[in-house]
Amino acid sequence: MNLLLSPRKPVAISLPWSKQLIANLAERKAAGRYRQQRIRIGEQGVAVVIDGKPLLSFCSNDYLGLASHPDLKKAFIKAVDKEGVGSGAAHLLTGHSQYHQQLEQALAEFTRQQKVLLFSSGYQANLGVIDGLMIRGDVIIQDKLNHASLLDGGRLSAANQLRYQHADIAALSRRLQQVDQKNCLLVTDGVFSMDGDIAPLPELITLAKQHNAAVMIDDAHGLGVLGEHGRGSVEHWNIAAADRPIVIGTFGKAFGTAGAFVAADDEVIETLIQQSRSYIYTTAQPAAIAAATLASLELVQQQNWRREKLQTLISQFRTGAKALGLQLMDSPTPIQPVLIGDDKQAISIGKSLEQKGILVGVIRPPTVPEGSARLRITLSASHTEQHIIQLLDALESICAH
Ligand SMILES: *Cc1c(COP(=O)(O)O)cnc(C)c1O
Repeated sequence: MNLLLSPRKPVAISLPWSKQLIANLAERKAAGRYRQQRIRIGEQGVAVVIDGKPLLSFCSNDYLGLASHPDLKKAFIKAVDKEGVGSGAAHLLTGHSQYHQQLEQALAEFTRQQKVLLFSSGYQANLGVIDGLMIRGDVIIQDKLNHASLLDGGRLSAANQLRYQHADIAALSRRLQQVDQKNCLLVTDGVFSMDGDIAPLPELITLAKQHNAAVMIDDAHGLGVLGEHGRGSVEHWNIAAADRPIVIGTFGKAFGTAGAFVAADDEVIETLIQQSRSYIYTTAQPAAIAAATLASLELVQQQNWRREKLQTLISQFRTGAKALGLQLMDSPTPIQPVLIGDDKQAISIGKSLEQKGILVGVIRPPTVPEGSARLRITLSASHTEQHIIQLLDALESICAH
């Protein structure tokens, strides 16, 4: 859309190594790994307008269809009227509004944890919790497929970081044996963001207990979606209160707003308030976002039908895709990747789908391992059975054997 492009572009100021950048970009493009922004106009939802074209989207993380819900809009606008827009400061100065406070309390109750601390994004929460808790001499053990922000948190920390093969209990056990006696944090996604599978939490917790390690789960894709009341992985697995892990939740996905939190015991949260740099040195999110998230939390808890609807759509999609011979992954969640393998083939299928009016994520290395490019199809409670049929028909005409 031309109106969004700046008409007066300044003359380039070359960095001394600009040629290198240009060559690297060209190489990336040739390899089919170039990343580009696309412009959406209008609300997030299953019907979106991207680069001026209306598309049926299977490509957002708005799993419950709450991002544009009227209750969230109302709560947001009402809070803006009372509190203005910018929070104006970090949480530890004057940025922590009554809405932030209310949201922390409501989330502590929701997650059944002692205390909750808000972060401005999930990325910051993961950096800040891992780096804020773990110091030199400690050990962090992570699943290889954990979200980039968790792995980055481990890299930022002075603690030693080890990784284990995805969801491999035997491999994890060997890692834990290496580090007995040290303060050790076992870190895993609750639901893996590019595969959609659920971490085997009970086994991880049992093993961690045997080795006196703590457990932290990033439930960005589990909260709101898993468990009868949307409490996420902990509810899905029915984890006993005495075994509950440190939980990271994000609001940009099922909650339909923005921001994140960590839920844990008092001393963990108090420690983070003292020494979590991505908490301390950043501006608090606008109070209105917290107000909208409070409204969202109500809907997440009350409207079971959204989770039930998702389950119906997930089985409809999986049954249909299997019948077409598509290679699905072991995912019971709204993240339903179709494995393609080759980067360029994945891009070409993505483009063909788009020509038929359907938008899916095309995920390539380094986001996923080499040779495992995939379509990342995500379902939302706002989709209908008819939408799934449309998607399956398009997939059949493009890539069924
Ligand atoms: C999206 C995501 C994050 C980052 O959360 P943001 O609030 O978007 O920064 C962290 N962890 C996982 C597993 C995610 O999927």
